Amino acid sequence: MRKLCHCGQEMSLDFRVLIFESVIEIDRVPIFECEQCNHYEVLSAIKPDLLALLGEVKASREQGLVLFNEVNELVDVMYGIYRSWNDTGSPSFEALLDQKCKERINLLLDVYGCAKEMQDRDWMDDISKRLTQISCFVNNSQFSRAN
Ligand SMILES: [Zn+2]
Repeated sequence: MRKLCHCGQEMSLDFRVLIFESVIEIDRVPIFECEQCNHYEVLSAIKPDLLALLGEVKASREQGLVLFNEVNELVDVMYGIYRSWNDTGSPSFEALLDQKCKERINLLLDVYGCAKEMQDRDWMDDISKRLTQISCFVNNSQFSRAN
């Protein structure tokens, strides 16, 4: 998964800790990074969720570390692929991501079914939120458009 930097160099996908206002740390945030000029940017597909998370953490006045992949399904799928994927070109990161996202959606739908059967409203809400995070991305299909 790559994107072109303003310096002309290709940027590659990485995950890093971002620190906000020196108190909130969010780890495992997917970014594009340029080795040439050290420029980096947060993936635009997850920016709205990252901002929403920051708002929540600020409102709760809790300090410390949040693992972004634990609160965002899309990031969790990406992080899973990132850790096990080697850049041999086949299958491509994008193809794997597409496939894994679809698998995750099916899984979440199953879990939602369980939650519904148990009439667990909180659980259902949680699953719906996670489904939204991941299906928005799949429906908008990919970084090529998102960037
Ligand atoms: Zn650059």
